[in-house]
Amino acid sequence: MFPNLFSLSRFQDANIQEMLDDNAGNKWNFGFCRNLREVEIEDIIHLLKLIATFNIVEGQDERVWQNGIKQFSVAECYKSLEEDGLLVFPYKSVWNPKIPQKVILFVWCLCYNAAPTMDSVRNTYNVNGCLLCKKSAESNQHLFLHCDTTREIWFYFLSHYNLQWVFQGSVRDTLWEWRRKKGGNVSLKTKIWDIIPFAIWWVVCLERNTRTFNGRSNSVDNLKDGLNL
Ligand SMILES: [Zn+2]
Repeated sequence: MFPNLFSLSRFQDANIQEMLDDNAGNKWNFGFCRNLREVEIEDIIHLLKLIATFNIVEGQDERVWQNGIKQFSVAECYKSLEEDGLLVFPYKSVWNPKIPQKVILFVWCLCYNAAPTMDSVRNTYNVNGCLLCKKSAESNQHLFLHCDTTREIWFYFLSHYNLQWVFQGSVRDTLWEWRRKKGGNVSLKTKIWDIIPFAIWWVVCLERNTRTFNGRSNSVDNLKDGLNL
């Protein structure tokens, strides 16, 4: 769930007991190999909230396979991924007749990391920098998922649903998670839920283009108001 944090940990093969620091009163020790950046700190806050209710009991750690009635096997794992739809393109989410076709095609491009962000423009005249947050290089993942400005818009909507959200590494995975969340939560079964990611990505794209080509910018509050969902 937190691939970026996992990649920073020195304890990638550790069990639960080894992640608890005896000397610090059994507090979590994730063994990060460097200080966390701002975006990563948000992720660690989400992680700590998720595991806050975790009950530590005496005994040996063991792995538990919770999907299906059979024991873990590669075949069962593959079946589980397939049933959750992680192995195929999220066509049900993308091809939504209530969404304008140009927005659908744009999100379809995002699913393949194909939006023309600065990281894909290779010349020596442009310095790659995100014009929304001005803190990081611009890429598909950054601009539409991890940018501070974009996240502010995401959290504005998520707060209405009282949801904690862990951002996936790609637009495609985010669409799957968005749909899966709806399946398990009655309050999310609204028409607007399916449209929110598309509206956010579209407004972020328009704002990015306005800043890049017209030199003008809107405040985040204006962007939220402009969504009109
Ligand atoms: Zn940014």
